[in-house]
Amino acid sequence: MSGDEWDLIVVGAGGAGLSAAASAAERGGRVLVLEAEDAVGGSMSLAAGMFTAAGTRVQEALGVEDSPDRFFQHYMDLNQWRLQPGLIRTFCEATAPTLHWMMDLGLEVPAQRSTNAHMPGLGHAGVEDVWRGHTPAGEGFAVVELLERTMRTHGAELALGARVDGLVVEGGRVCGVRVGGEEARAGAVVVASGGFAHDRDLVDRYFPAARAAGEHLFVVAGAGSRGDHLRLAEQVGAGLTGQGWGLLLVTAYLQRHHHWDSGFPPLSRINVNSTGQRFMDEDVSYAVSAGILADQEGPCWMVFDEAARLSLPEGFLDWTPERVHEEAEAGRTHRADDLAALAAAIGVPGSTFVRTVERWNQTLPHGLDPEFQRHLTLAAKGVATPLTELGTPPFYAALLVPGELVCTHTGLRIDSRARVLDVRGDVVAGLYAAGEAGGGVLGNRYVGGGNAIANSLTLGRIAGLDGLEHAGRSA
Ligand SMILES: Cc1cc2nc3c(=O)[nH]c(=O)nc-3n(C[C@H](O)[C@H](O)[C@H](O)COP(=O)(O)OP(=O)(O)OC[C@H]3O[C@@H](n4cnc5c(N)ncnc54)[C@H](O)[C@@H]3O)c2cc1C
Repeated sequence: MSGDEWDLIVVGAGGAGLSAAASAAERGGRVLVLEAEDAVGGSMSLAAGMFTAAGTRVQEALGVEDSPDRFFQHYMDLNQWRLQPGLIRTFCEATAPTLHWMMDLGLEVPAQRSTNAHMPGLGHAGVEDVWRGHTPAGEGFAVVELLERTMRTHGAELALGARVDGLVVEGGRVCGVRVGGEEARAGAVVVASGGFAHDRDLVDRYFPAARAAGEHLFVVAGAGSRGDHLRLAEQVGAGLTGQGWGLLLVTAYLQRHHHWDSGFPPLSRINVNSTGQRFMDEDVSYAVSAGILADQEGPCWMVFDEAARLSLPEGFLDWTPERVHEEAEAGRTHRADDLAALAAAIGVPGSTFVRTVERWNQTLPHGLDPEFQRHLTLAAKGVATPLTELGTPPFYAALLVPGELVCTHTGLRIDSRARVLDVRGDVVAGLYAAGEAGGGVLGNRYVGGGNAIANSLTLGRIAGLDGLEHAGRSA
């Protein structure tokens, strides 16, 4: 590594880093990618790969009318305009070209409607104004393979087990990185080291909402998500943005894994708050459910009956009939032979709770949920199984928590060319950031599905191309 001079050094070989590296290498840049772990991919390789993009060929083939303008309006509105419009406009305009670039390289996104995040095609996660979530065949792993192959084909070099721990700065300009005692120099450096989900102190500091899950918090992000971007930022006085934001998914406390492994809770269930009433569409988009939970006072509970427990399929790590039984035997999941006793066990008013269950039994199991419109959400997810009444004892209640930490949004402040800005808003010469390491695109509301990957791949590409141009070797 030492002694070489590169056009571009990329810190991290996840979604943003591989996108930056493949983009720059394809244009003739001499690119070095440094990856802390023993394998490429980061969170990107664990993801479904859903990519939100507006005005794409896939949408057009399916007759979905969309445009960057429409995406911009929706994105800003959902985030209550708490993001910088210039950066978001660039992002919205660049999503479709980024997706098309990867499709031209061989990524397969079939022109078919997809009703879940793992089904290739065009889907949605419940908060979009039009179908915008593009899931590739082979999911996130396929994206990683494609981009790694592309960058290697064009001569980029990759070093694994190389955790960057410092930037080389000369005359106010970033001109390289340090790994242990070694140094590598380049015309520009892209920090694409992901988020900080695995550093509990940083999570406490920059995403305190995760504290609400207490001991039940579990992290599904890639192991390399340790917040190194924040440490590198300190060295050059980079500004930060996105404090307090990230993506937490609501789970029952007993869930410890991403749903691919954990399985899903029973469909026939309701969520109640401390008043003993339902307070949400239990299937509402993961993009907004943690906010709804945070609005409740006191503990909230997932409630289901014995028939629902027995309906759970085998073969998963958390949501199986046996696991729920064990939790109830251990007293961690409440269980009672009648609803009044269950209400007493979880400390909610008994008569209200019984009425809540009666109302549920009279509504959604017969097709409609007038209060929360959950029938529409289920229909949009393609759920055809009718939901059953809550009526077979014993009854169960499991504590709800914002338990699953997926990604974090506090990153280095960047402009619309992905250049890092310092605390005064001036460009830090030679330094770029993208993905979760770059702040300002991922906001207070996740614009599911595919917001984080769109950010990672799109801003990665912008950083790679601008960084190369800046290094003066663009073909
Ligand atoms: C299970 C799961 C499913 C998901 N599904 C989706 C989805 O379908 N759609 C969506 O939009 N988002 C999804 N996400 C979120 C999305 O995958 C991430 O936000 C995105 O991959 C982040 O990209 P990144 O490049 O910033 O980080 P990563 O992909 O995590 O890459 C960062 C890389 O940098 C490396 N690194 C860290 N520090 C250093 C260092 N100091 N030196 C060198 N290398 C370093 C890491 O090891 C890692 O390889 C999902 C996340 C998870 C965990």
